Amino acid sequence: MESPASTSPRGAGRYAPSPSGDLHLGNLRTAVVAWVLARDSGRAFRMRVDDLDTARARPGVADRQLADLAAIGIDWDGEIMWESARSDAYAAAADRLADGGLVYECYCSRREIAEAARAPHSPPGAYPGTCRDLPDAERALRREALGPGRVPALRLRADVRELTVHDAVHGSYTGVVDDVVLRRGDGVWAYNLAVVVDDAGQDVDQVVRGEDLLPSTPRQAYLAALLGLPRPEYVHVPLAVNAAGERLAKRDGAVTLSDLAEEGTTTRSVVARLVASLGGPEGADSVEALRGVVTADSLRSGPWIVA
Ligand code: GLU
Repeated sequence: MESPASTSPRGAGRYAPSPSGDLHLGNLRTAVVAWVLARDSGRAFRMRVDDLDTARARPGVADRQLADLAAIGIDWDGEIMWESARSDAYAAAADRLADGGLVYECYCSRREIAEAARAPHSPPGAYPGTCRDLPDAERALRREALGPGRVPALRLRADVRELTVHDAVHGSYTGVVDDVVLRRGDGVWAYNLAVVVDDAGQDVDQVVRGEDLLPSTPRQAYLAALLGLPRPEYVHVPLAVNAAGERLAKRDGAVTLSDLAEEGTTTRSVVARLVASLGGPEGADSVEALRGVVTADSLRSGPWIVA
C-alpha cells in the first residue's frame, strides 16, 4: 500500500462528503461530531471528497460544501483528498485481491440482481452470486453481450456471509457480507473499495459518519482485513429527521446554510442550533463549545428531530 501523504502518529478522523448537493443540517452536524471526536482524542482531522462518480458530481458543489464546513468552524489537516484522482490506488487494491483469487467479473444488470436477490436462502440485500462460478465459455459470451460503454463489473469473492463489527454508539453490529462490487459496470470504482483504501491512505483510524452507513460497515471491515489494513474505530451518528421522523432532505425546506441565509438566518445561529442539538451550552455559537461534550454515550440519545 502506498504511504499516506502525511502520517500522523496519533491517527486521524475524517469527513467525506459526496458532492451531490449542498450539505444540510444533518450532514453539517455529523461533520461537527467527526471533528470534535477527532480533535478531542488528539487525532488529526482529514477531508476527503467522495467524487468517484464524476458523472453525477455537480460542478461547484464540492467547493460549496468545503466552504460551508469551514464557515461553521471545521478545520482540517493536510491536503484534501479527491477520490476522482485516486483510480490508481483503487486499481492496485483490486489487483492485490485478484492476485489472491478473490475477484470475479459480473455481467448482471440491476434487474437481474434484483430478481435473483429474491431467491430463497440469500440474505436480504445480498448479491446471490449469479456470476461467481460461470464457466469460461459463458463468461466470453456474456462479456460480448455487454452494451456500449459497459465493462464487466468486478466483484469480491467473499467467503463469509456476515461479520460483526463494534460501533461506539450501537455496540456490536452484525451485518451482511456479500460479493461486494469493487468496480461498477460503468467502470467507476465502487464506494466500498474506495472508502477502505482511502481511510488507510489518509491514516484514518476513527470513522465517524451517518448511521445510514452502518449496514455497509461489515463489508468494509471485511475488505480491509483482506487488504491487510487495520480496522478503524466506528462511530455511526444518529441521523437528522424531519417532524414526521423521515430522514432530513432538501424537500424539508430551508435546511442548507445558503437556504437559511436567504431567510435571514446567520451562520452563527445555525452553529448555535447544531451546538444545542449536541448537548452543548445554550447560546454558544462556536463548535469549540462542543469540545469534551460530545461522546459516543451522548450520541445514544437517538435521532435529531429538526422541527
Ligand atoms: N460520502 C458518503 C456520504 O456522503 C460518506 C462516506 C463515508 O463516510 O464513509 O454519505
